[in-house]
Amino acid sequence: MRSEFSRAEVVVDLDAIRHNVRLLTDRAPGAAVMAVVKADAYGHGAVPAARAALEAGARWLGACSLAEGLALREAGITAPVFTWLDAPDVDFAPGIAAGIDLSASSTGELARIVDGARRTGKPARVHLKIDTGLSRNGCPLYAWPALVKAAAAETDVDVVAVWSHLACADEPGHPSIDAQAQRFQAAYDIAREAGLNPLRHLANSAATLTRPDLHFDLVRPGIAIYGLNPVPQHENLVPAMTFRSQVVLTKRIEAGESVSYGHTWTAARDTTLALVPAGYADGVPRALSSRMDVWLEGKRRPIAGRVCMDQLVVDCGDDEPALGAEVVLFGAGRDGEPTAREWADAIGTIDYEIVTGMYRPRVPRRYE
Ligand code: PLP
Repeated sequence: MRSEFSRAEVVVDLDAIRHNVRLLTDRAPGAAVMAVVKADAYGHGAVPAARAALEAGARWLGACSLAEGLALREAGITAPVFTWLDAPDVDFAPGIAAGIDLSASSTGELARIVDGARRTGKPARVHLKIDTGLSRNGCPLYAWPALVKAAAAETDVDVVAVWSHLACADEPGHPSIDAQAQRFQAAYDIAREAGLNPLRHLANSAATLTRPDLHFDLVRPGIAIYGLNPVPQHENLVPAMTFRSQVVLTKRIEAGESVSYGHTWTAARDTTLALVPAGYADGVPRALSSRMDVWLEGKRRPIAGRVCMDQLVVDCGDDEPALGAEVVLFGAGRDGEPTAREWADAIGTIDYEIVTGMYRPRVPRRYE
């Protein structure tokens, strides 16, 4: 019987994160690695994941919001931190005071950063974002010369970098990658002509693994750090997250008896059921009802019927699992257990969403 968790828990393997970061630093020898730890490090825990990434050779940390960046500083992390997306009413001053690099996608955003810098009495470190074709945040090319000119003229701003983000890097060979790279070059040239000498960063995990020509000064991998491979080619990445629970009850039912809400699953033979106290409130998608296995006592065994809010039922056939036996819901896949990718494929999403969705207060997280 496991005593350290009661119902279900996420276990994060920090050695796996260190291994993956070392693999990425090897793959990008000419660039520094910015480990992307936004969204609580894709559900793995921002501070422990950031520390592991820095130990393994990452030199920067990337987060989405200023609050995420400040949380890293509050935890005592002094490495360069870059954040890139906030609401228009955010106060940049605490970020500038904490030495966090900020992103500007427009002259309006730049002006708000300048305002924060003046109130802080310290120049802001700014990365100018060009929209090269993802059409999310970032400055469109037609407005870029004005943004560059305003940033170059501003004494309260140090322009650290020009950066952008790729739309289809996970489809190596997709024509948009080269098109975005060309626009990125054009934007960089405009910055140089304005007298700036910025760093450049463009590559996410997929481009870090497949496009060495796009590494520039910094690469920004996220998903690969957590061991999930965004590209079809084989990579020696190790998934860092395991989601597990345990058997809390077993019972025999007879052929013809049905299981869980809606009676969508009926036993074809006499069988043993194992009750697992993990449901959709814990991160098991209801869409996996009768569509996924768990790993229990060295075998894959199917989920029988609907996943409920707090529990699910596993069909164990003639086996009688021990009370307290570990149930791996997903893991690295090394022993044959389902993986986050398998879950994602089964319900029509991506493994990013599966692991990020494990960031929930109900499920304790443990590090090993
Ligand atoms: N850079 C930015 C701006 C991002 O939004 C993300 C994540 O979506 C990343 C880098 C990391 O991407 P990936 O997790 O695909 O490596």
